[in-house]
Amino acid sequence: MRNRTYEKIIQYVSLTMIVAAGGIIGALPLISSSSAEVRTVISESDMLRAAFAQKISQICEIDTIDTKERPWQYIVIHHSASEKGNATRFDTYHREKKGWKYGLAYHFVIGNGTLSGDGEIEVGNRWKNQIHGAHTANMDCNQVAIGICLVGDFENGGKPSEDQFDSLVRLTRYLSSKYDIPLSNIILHSQVHQKGTACPGKNFPMAEFKTSLIQFASNEISPSRKS
Ligand SMILES: [Zn+2]
Repeated sequence: MRNRTYEKIIQYVSLTMIVAAGGIIGALPLISSSSAEVRTVISESDMLRAAFAQKISQICEIDTIDTKERPWQYIVIHHSASEKGNATRFDTYHREKKGWKYGLAYHFVIGNGTLSGDGEIEVGNRWKNQIHGAHTANMDCNQVAIGICLVGDFENGGKPSEDQFDSLVRLTRYLSSKYDIPLSNIILHSQVHQKGTACPGKNFPMAEFKTSLIQFASNEISPSRKS
């Protein structure tokens, strides 16, 4: 499953990145044969991690250099409480049924393979233009909380797919690192101080999510390189 995810993300990676990575691979034998002292090893997982990181950073680019970044302090995880969905569908619902002029309440939507790709990260207008969210009933929280919604109903039998979970970990890690958001401020919608909600459902694996974030961060700090 893990390899399948890598293959998929690799397809997203720009040609430049592939050429650059190819250059690294091509250069390796030369490095090791020209000098016995130099034993730089760039593993496949290092390159994949770099490719993912570049892709996530491209996804998270905001609209223009004039757009002022908000002082994000929290990341709130949601499920859509529906079997199917994508950013466009939720945007229409929030605009037309809820009457929210900025539309899509969340900043990011991660697909489950129904109306968008499995693990595909869609970016909302509120992120591109650094607009507050509308994803909780706590307006103070909405001002400073990045909203990420996973398509699916994790309260009634469903659970995040492996690819969705993987994308969520990578996106959350990127955002928490960029905005200095501590692990304690990465929370579920049900943990926000507001009227009770089950979101993102009892089947969302919060403990596994936090463990994965910690592991992911430690891999970044000590990448598998030998010298
Ligand atoms: Zn929610």
